[in-house]
Amino acid sequence: MASPWQLRVRPFTLELRNRFTLANSSRTTTPTLLVELERDGRIGYGEAAMPPYLGETPASASAFLQRLPLPRYDDPLATAAILADVDAQAPGNTAAKAAFDIALHDWLGKALGQPWHRILGLDKHRAPKTSYTIGIHPPATVRELALANHERFAAFKLKLGGPEDRAMVEAVRDVCATPIRVDVNQGWTDRDAALREIEWLAGRGVEFVEQPLPKDRRDDLAWLTARSPLPILADEGCVRLADLRDAVGCYHGIVVKLMKCTGLREARTLLEAARVLGLRTMLGCMTETSCAISAAAQLAPLADWADLDGAILVANDPFVGATLQAGAIVPTDLPGIGAVPGGAAKVG
Ligand code: MG
Repeated sequence: MASPWQLRVRPFTLELRNRFTLANSSRTTTPTLLVELERDGRIGYGEAAMPPYLGETPASASAFLQRLPLPRYDDPLATAAILADVDAQAPGNTAAKAAFDIALHDWLGKALGQPWHRILGLDKHRAPKTSYTIGIHPPATVRELALANHERFAAFKLKLGGPEDRAMVEAVRDVCATPIRVDVNQGWTDRDAALREIEWLAGRGVEFVEQPLPKDRRDDLAWLTARSPLPILADEGCVRLADLRDAVGCYHGIVVKLMKCTGLREARTLLEAARVLGLRTMLGCMTETSCAISAAAQLAPLADWADLDGAILVANDPFVGATLQAGAIVPTDLPGIGAVPGGAAKVG
């Protein structure tokens, strides 16, 4: 059976504006795989952004996508069946699956002539303001980054879990009163020490703490969440829909990212289901191009917080799409995901 779809992939290396150091990794680039899904002369764009510590590579994502049984996906409106079939092809591969999900949504939105925020009935101007992420740096560098960005952004996300956590927070506070969100990336190990740190942070304009302890320390996370004066959010500890039930009681909320939950379809379900279960939500991202960011931005009005600065941290974004407007990443009104090739590095 001939496939109605043509799928093309191209590895692309995102160059980061600043070295990105987390509690357990450091890098200056992020590998990504750009995807084009074409049918009837219309192209849907997708992307798999793959920070190396998550285990996927452009080669693995490409191999996964090239093996998809595209001839089966004859009805482009059958997204539930198509994306369930894609997910069932192999375990893991969440970024590769997200790339296909984004490209299919982009193609379908274009076929329908509407952006996804309109198809979903969302008001794009109700997107929460995004944070600007500052990795683990010496306090002097943190101070410079805060100074350079506090007028454009309504919040900072500070990566802690390094040797100078408190000095990094103080460095921001030297410069501005901008709210700070903290992401420890599982970097603290002692629950009592973690609680003391969170109590200290609570007096310094911090809004919440993301993944303070390793994700498998569920009893300690529940203990911490019961006592913390700040909301505790799961990132590494809640990846897909199947993890959501276990997040209740363990955390106050979850971080939803297209690259870890296989794309727009599951991200939307996660955001809505989390709310039903009484969990707060943040829509986050990896360092990724304006392709994946524009896709995520379609869902931003469903989240309590947004952390969608991924494309702003990239020096060679090959797409133009959602932009920073009054502190929020707001999608365009173009159909589909609202991103087009262009910008710092041309696609194709
Ligand atoms: Mg995180």
